[in-house]
Amino acid sequence: MAKYIGSVCKLCRREGEKLYLKGSRCLTPKCSFDKRAYTPGQHGPQAQWRRQRESDYAIQLRAKQKARRIYGVLEKQFRNYYRRAVKARGLTGVALLQELEVRLDNIVYRLGYARSRAEARQLVSHGHFLVNGHRSNIPSQQLSPGDEIAVRELSKKKTIFQVVVNESDGRNLPTWLERDEKLLTGKMLEVPNRQEIFEPVNEQLIVEFYSR
Ligand code: SF4
Repeated sequence: MAKYIGSVCKLCRREGEKLYLKGSRCLTPKCSFDKRAYTPGQHGPQAQWRRQRESDYAIQLRAKQKARRIYGVLEKQFRNYYRRAVKARGLTGVALLQELEVRLDNIVYRLGYARSRAEARQLVSHGHFLVNGHRSNIPSQQLSPGDEIAVRELSKKKTIFQVVVNESDGRNLPTWLERDEKLLTGKMLEVPNRQEIFEPVNEQLIVEFYSR
């Protein structure tokens, strides 16, 4: 399973905004973007002015890269999601976002059982979650309405889950999910509509990028 192993803070700096990829650290003064809000690299600070005259292609590319980075998906898989979205009913851009939202790692993050999607991905890979009573270690598993998620009985004792649940207490639970934080369980009620996906992603630009 391929994964990005570079600095994630550089990704925020490259996109020119905070993508909140490191959980609670993103809200502290240690955030790299707060300290150096310019493009990484030797010419980073000077490169800022260039962004003001980006081509249409560059704008579409950045929109696609930002979405990919927010959800922690590599290019090949992201393109596969796009291909599936093209075949889906309704707007392609919205279908793409829905494909990303119903990934198991994203739902674990949304339920507040991980502080970031990267952490959710790791916890899922290590087999700490059950989907409909069966152990799953596939972060990209697509869930459907009615699917139930639970932290595995043996894993419930792990301090990480107590810490994570306390830290994510203030995070709003989307209306398309249900959670019981005492039992460490959750349920997907429906596929989210566009209004329930709050990530700063412009899906229309992504569709334009792939339709070139
Ligand atoms: Fe981005 Fe979080 Fe790193 Fe700040 S701490 S640059 S928001 S990943």
